[in-house]
Amino acid sequence: MSWDVQPTTSEARNNFSRRLLAWYDLHRRDLPWRANRDPYRVWLSEIMLQQTRVAAVIEHYHEFLRRFPTVKKLAAARASNVLAAWSGLGYYRRARMMHSAAKVIVCEQGGKFPTTEEGLRELPGIGRYTAAAIASIAFEQPLAVVDGNVERVLQRISGEQLTGEKLWSAATGLLDTTRPGDFNQAMMELGAVVCTPRAPQCLICPMMKLCATRGELKATTSPAPQKKREIHYSLHYRNGNGRNGRVLLVQRALDASLMPGMWELPERSAIEPTRKPHLSLRHSITVTNYTVRVWRSATLSRTVGTWTPVGRLKQVPLTGLARKILRAADII
Ligand code: SF4
Repeated sequence: MSWDVQPTTSEARNNFSRRLLAWYDLHRRDLPWRANRDPYRVWLSEIMLQQTRVAAVIEHYHEFLRRFPTVKKLAAARASNVLAAWSGLGYYRRARMMHSAAKVIVCEQGGKFPTTEEGLRELPGIGRYTAAAIASIAFEQPLAVVDGNVERVLQRISGEQLTGEKLWSAATGLLDTTRPGDFNQAMMELGAVVCTPRAPQCLICPMMKLCATRGELKATTSPAPQKKREIHYSLHYRNGNGRNGRVLLVQRALDASLMPGMWELPERSAIEPTRKPHLSLRHSITVTNYTVRVWRSATLSRTVGTWTPVGRLKQVPLTGLARKILRAADII
């Protein structure tokens, strides 16, 4: 049986949401941000989950809340401390925007979260998706969300390459207005764990009877090709006693387009054909796969930087790659 993407009867819509919510009630993952519907926690999880895997978010989510348990604490924090707590998650603009939005909420709105989509969208860094997610999950506003998971589910169920406004109206047409927050989370959960990008598990899918595709929908566009690049860094490390060791870091320009103001190892251009690098690792950023070579340097040559105690590195806003290298080198 196939299913129309815009159900014309309330019975069809009820059938869809009944199946979906029954599955969600039984199978949803026990994720920390589902413990309650506090808007600050919902907001934090929604921002962290953008472009980042759940497993990577969980650890950062707990640490961020430990450091900034309320919107008031976040608003009062120094920008460098907020970035340090975000370090490793990437897309640091998200952290800067959250910090700015927290200041607006505390300084201009008496610490109260806006409860409507319009009010939420006036805050820095909150667009249509995030506003609808917070409003529906924290405040039960009847608003549908469309993210990458929902898009895939809707396209496969309908058998159509829906895009743009058609996706939003399809999601809105299906929304269970009695449980909008759960409905939205259920759609995203289905896409994340059952209707996955590759090899969807149709045999255990609660929506199989209503699905037109029952498998991967043929893509009409091919994904962007990955580029390859090799980069080199110097590791200057003074080995003290454990946390007393120091590592030389440099700060990225404050007006850099990528990760402004964050700290990293000094980049170097020259390689030494007679030596082997201390470490080699792989790192991917959007469409580029990097091979990273790290050279241990005994001399400082002309490098200008800051000797940073290893015990302080947790408070430093390191780039994700710098953190990865320092972990691989057993320094942190
Ligand atoms: S039946 Fe398969 S393709 Fe259809 S929604 Fe379920 S998992 Fe996705």
